[in-house]
Amino acid sequence: MFDAKAYAVASASSPFAPTKIARREPTEHDVQIEILFCGICHSDVHQARNEWSAMPTVYPCVPGHEIVGRVTRVGSAVSRFKAGDLVGVGCMVDSDGTCPACREGVEQFCASTTFTYNSPDKHLGGVTYGGYSDGIVVDERFVLSVPSNLDLAGAAPLLCAGITTYSPMRRFGVTKGQKVGVVGLGGLGHMGVKFARALGAHVVVFTTSPRKKEDALRVGAHEVVVSRNADEMRKHAGSFDFILDAVSAEHDIDAYIQLLRRGGNLTFVGAPPTPHRLDAFGLLFGNRSLSGSLIGGIRETQEMLDFCGTHGITADVEVIPIQKVNEAYERVLRSDVKYRFSIDMASLRSE
Ligand SMILES: [Zn+2]
Ligand SMILES: [Zn+2]
Repeated sequence: MFDAKAYAVASASSPFAPTKIARREPTEHDVQIEILFCGICHSDVHQARNEWSAMPTVYPCVPGHEIVGRVTRVGSAVSRFKAGDLVGVGCMVDSDGTCPACREGVEQFCASTTFTYNSPDKHLGGVTYGGYSDGIVVDERFVLSVPSNLDLAGAAPLLCAGITTYSPMRRFGVTKGQKVGVVGLGGLGHMGVKFARALGAHVVVFTTSPRKKEDALRVGAHEVVVSRNADEMRKHAGSFDFILDAVSAEHDIDAYIQLLRRGGNLTFVGAPPTPHRLDAFGLLFGNRSLSGSLIGGIRETQEMLDFCGTHGITADVEVIPIQKVNEAYERVLRSDVKYRFSIDMASLRSE
């Protein structure tokens, strides 16, 4: 074992504070990574504050699952990476590798997935610690190659926000000539816009705030609709092939279902705290469908990163030193960030 520097919360109500955590010595299949940047995902905030009853938080908690860094050391059996490589780690660091989900490449649905933080640690006991740290050791099967042309601070959020929005667009075949809607322009939504645009679709952003119009266009939308304006909404009735719903506050789903063409799909990547109400007739008339989507498997995450390399896609980030993480959490809760915080881990190394 060796010590890594990290920022942890000691309880649901504690602020982040510097600490030391144990990382394992790399086994023969492991890759040791010097973390360069880690994005702040909204899930980190929920988990740090123990807001998910299904996944109670074990303290101390070191969040962070949007990790990019450089390989410093590899185990003797590692074949795909060598010291110096630019790599990424997302929401998972291990799974059984043998169940139907793993064999299909959707390790996020394996019954024994080890998540990057707050998940039982098979090697050291206790729970796993995430990317708010200067280093991490991960099985090579869960390490991804990061294209060297990408800005690393902006590449970090691809590991969660990127794959979460890319995966359903690929599953539902978003392609050239289609019309795609993105509901909500935040960390997830702005990635959805970039992917839909790069896949060749005509992209429409739905937002409740007219102030976001300009920014939506800058990020890549062709059109922006203020969803509170019923007339504007009606103009798009029956015209969308696919709508990505990235809003985790309550909103009217029926209004969006009416915008889908025959056979169109709306996929949720955000979950409001209270259940959606839904008029089934909207789905019946037109064989429309509703879906959910959770991150993506390792193979698809690599495909997404390669796609980002080809198309020059990164998240829009505000880079912060780790000493500002508490402030950043308050701002995440106010949606006061365009559109993701990325922690520069040089600030931790120099502490
Ligand atoms: Zn996340
Ligand atoms: Zn499995």
